Amino acid sequence: MTQQPVRASNPENFPAEVDVAIIGAGPAGTSAAALLHDRGWRTCIVERETFPRFVIGESLLARCMDLLDEAGLLDAVKARDYFVKRGALFVRGGEQADIDFADQFTPGWTWTWQVPRADFDLTLANAVVDRGVPLFYGHEVTAVTTAPTPSLRVHGPSGEHTLRARHIIDASGYGRVLPRLLGLDRPSSLPERKSLFAHVRHDARPEGALANRIWVVLHPKGAWVWLIPLSDGITSVGLVAEPSFFANWPGTDEEIFRAALLEEPNCRARLADMELVFAPRALQGYSAAVSQLCGPGFTLVGNATEFLDPVFSSGVTLALESANRAAKLVDRELRGERVDWAQEYGAYLMRGVETFRAFVLGWYTGEFPEILFSPNQNQAIREQITSVLAGYVWDESNPFVKQPARRMKQVLRIVRHVNG
Ligand SMILES: Cc1cc2nc3c(=O)[nH]c(=O)nc-3n(C[C@H](O)[C@H](O)[C@H](O)COP(=O)(O)OP(=O)(O)OC[C@H]3O[C@@H](n4cnc5c(N)ncnc54)[C@H](O)[C@@H]3O)c2cc1C
Repeated sequence: MTQQPVRASNPENFPAEVDVAIIGAGPAGTSAAALLHDRGWRTCIVERETFPRFVIGESLLARCMDLLDEAGLLDAVKARDYFVKRGALFVRGGEQADIDFADQFTPGWTWTWQVPRADFDLTLANAVVDRGVPLFYGHEVTAVTTAPTPSLRVHGPSGEHTLRARHIIDASGYGRVLPRLLGLDRPSSLPERKSLFAHVRHDARPEGALANRIWVVLHPKGAWVWLIPLSDGITSVGLVAEPSFFANWPGTDEEIFRAALLEEPNCRARLADMELVFAPRALQGYSAAVSQLCGPGFTLVGNATEFLDPVFSSGVTLALESANRAAKLVDRELRGERVDWAQEYGAYLMRGVETFRAFVLGWYTGEFPEILFSPNQNQAIREQITSVLAGYVWDESNPFVKQPARRMKQVLRIVRHVNG
């Protein structure tokens, strides 16, 4: 993968006023900016870091392709030659359950990518700058006013700025800028979990057609592990569990990371010779929720909204979907149309989130793995599950989308009946 230059706007040209101010240049922020810019609005992205910057979350879902395409960003990503992702392999001891996006209930994309996020996010950012969106790196939003005129206080290399806008989109991810500043943060309904992850070399990847397949491995001591092969010879590896899991081994995070992985036979077979590219990083208590997704003059998108859990790689998909929806509604509102934000944004977004929530809850109760690894698979049910795991979580003709929790229980009963 070739290095790419960073295209950024000159801080001297920081504007005083735009139509839409966007906080954060992750996938949510850049895709929202692309859609609004193409509709003729003056947008501006304010980003705290300088790019490329590391963020975790390399596995995309097929639904991302529709959304990148609609934002006019697909060709820029295609040019980066990332590994193609056609599904995911779930592994539990000697059992395997392969999800192939080609076998779907909902018509849609059958593939996507596994992306090194530093490069992927820079690719999207460069593409929107090339199109004419001002993007200011090294500028941090420190305060917000939503009424009567929305505005942001921004600290940058050339000092303090006030940026007035007709609408603010908060795409600040884990920064959770507006939830923090406006007191919208709410505790997640999910128990606190911890992840320990790193990039590694010398992963003994399997040979053949499934060589680059993402693996999700159940660990016998109550964790799960992701292995995401990337096109530059690096594999992203992470453990996720309740914090007590990591107390099973003594030592530093690196010693715990190695010991925990090498205790699971499938991981040991691949990672016995692994060399860490960077020391394992820990994230804990990342699940988050908010009391409202939007309000007068502002909308939250991506991880600044609700973040559930990494297990089904839903983060970037929800980031792109919320940004897509928000950008179209902001466009309508700025044109003077009435928008029912609660219904058209909040309720819509939560329908997809609730589908993933049922799957996440089912994963940790063990009910979803029971369905997934069931020896007698019903093809129709399998296709419905695959569409959810491909990110098509707004297709209400899929029973897992229409009534996620109920369908999960119903299918569990079928599986138990069939398997005696
Ligand atoms: C352990 C773990 C594993 C994960 N694995 C996956 C996966 O495999 N696939 C997947 O799809 N998702 C995954 N995710 C989720 C994924 O990381 C996020 O959902 C995704 O990055 C959200 O994108 P975003 O655009 O909302 O925010 P981000 O990509 O986080 O971007 C937000 C940007 O806002 C900037 N910012 C923050 N504060 C400020 C401020 N005050 N002023 C200006 N800028 C600011 C930040 O610097 C950042 O660049 C995982 C999450 C965890 C915790």
